[in-house]
Amino acid sequence: MTTQHRNLRTGQPIWLGKAATGIKFDALMDDISVDVAILGAGISGALVAEGLTEAGYSVAIFDRRKPVMGSTPASTALLQFEIDMPLHHLAKHIGLNNAERAWRRSKLAVDALRERTKDLGISCEMKDRDSLYIAGDVLDEKGLQKELLARQRAGFETRFLSNDDLQSRFGIDRTAALMSFNNIEANPRKLALGYLNKAIDRGARIYAPVEVTFVEPRSRDVLAITKDGRKIRSKYLVSATGYELPDYVPKKGHKIISTWALATAPQRDKLWPERCLIWEASDPYLYMRTTQDGRIIVGGEDEEFENEEKRDAKLKSKTNSILKKLKRMFPKITAEADYAWAGSFGSSSTGLPSIGAIPGMDRCYAILGYGGNGITFSMVASQLVRGLITGTGDPDEDLFAFK
Ligand SMILES: Cc1cc2nc3c(=O)[nH]c(=O)nc-3n(C[C@H](O)[C@H](O)[C@H](O)COP(=O)(O)OP(=O)(O)OC[C@H]3O[C@@H](n4cnc5c(N)ncnc54)[C@H](O)[C@@H]3O)c2cc1C
Repeated sequence: MTTQHRNLRTGQPIWLGKAATGIKFDALMDDISVDVAILGAGISGALVAEGLTEAGYSVAIFDRRKPVMGSTPASTALLQFEIDMPLHHLAKHIGLNNAERAWRRSKLAVDALRERTKDLGISCEMKDRDSLYIAGDVLDEKGLQKELLARQRAGFETRFLSNDDLQSRFGIDRTAALMSFNNIEANPRKLALGYLNKAIDRGARIYAPVEVTFVEPRSRDVLAITKDGRKIRSKYLVSATGYELPDYVPKKGHKIISTWALATAPQRDKLWPERCLIWEASDPYLYMRTTQDGRIIVGGEDEEFENEEKRDAKLKSKTNSILKKLKRMFPKITAEADYAWAGSFGSSSTGLPSIGAIPGMDRCYAILGYGGNGITFSMVASQLVRGLITGTGDPDEDLFAFK
């Protein structure tokens, strides 16, 4: 059994521009036994490790890269409860009841992430932001009206903004938008390192670089074997390997696509009022946010292929087209890229993740967070996996289960 190997990202993500604060990790020199083995030291592994150490389990995390060097530092980290697929569209795929459940769970995860991060004192440039969902080719003005009703029915505070509202309040010339409240922006690298460090404070260990190449549940434990033959015995194993999927995890409905993002130079005086998160109801969609030091991070232009060479070859042209779109929306800003990067991206037919027990593998769990809500779903995963391992269960287990 092996995990896919990918070149997950290329170029210069903004979050890797500065050296990270320290994190302790070791080489794995011997066989090891632990309550929970977590494969992957990205944001998913970090949140799961923090949750399970708090619940009193001994935890070891293994990564074939150094900690937080996979997809997580490429994230633009708009931490939104609004799922990529509009609520009234999702209802057509999975039924109204389940679609509302998924949206509500996503909201709960964003709220929990905010509160827990604050409670733990993790410093990660986290800031509450409202969001603007702007009319595009997926939802025009009429479509946004429908989405407004669906969101209000499900209990989400949402406001409709007309072209006049958008012009006068934000200087944006689009037909309409929905405004949602209490989303978050953060530095994803610091966020993940912060959670890993909390887990370490409670006794967790990180081993890197360690590639796990074999996993087998046995009658009393789970055996994992590393590339160089070390044995990891655990009561439970959590696979949080991001977009490098192990071959024992079902991949039905899963696709890897390509995406591009950039960050401008700081320009505090030119940013839009309220600095809310902005994304378009379009496919592919353009999205943007600002940073603590006044830069604009903007991304999108997704394409449905996974070939990494092709993805990287398009970095320059995609950067230029994202900059053009940014300038069209905000003519006064300086549309030049200080950082530009490309990444692979998991997507599913509904925009929802798969999280939970791996079919046919007792005491083994996997996390496949998808799309623009990847980090929100990592939080759902942390709550859900903790519930399954501790035995308290989770009311949404069926919603995200591997099928
Ligand atoms: C350009 C871009 C923009 C994004 N923007 C957003 C956004 O605005 N909001 C949002 O919520 N999400 C966003 N995402 C998605 C989000 O970043 C991801 O969902 C999230 O970072 C995934 O975290 P992870 O921990 O699951 O994976 P990773 O961070 O990739 O961590 C998985 C780790 O597993 C390790 N691994 C793999 N196989 C093995 C093995 N066999 N043995 C040991 N270790 C292994 C890898 O080395 C890796 O370090 C974005 C992603 C990209 C690329």
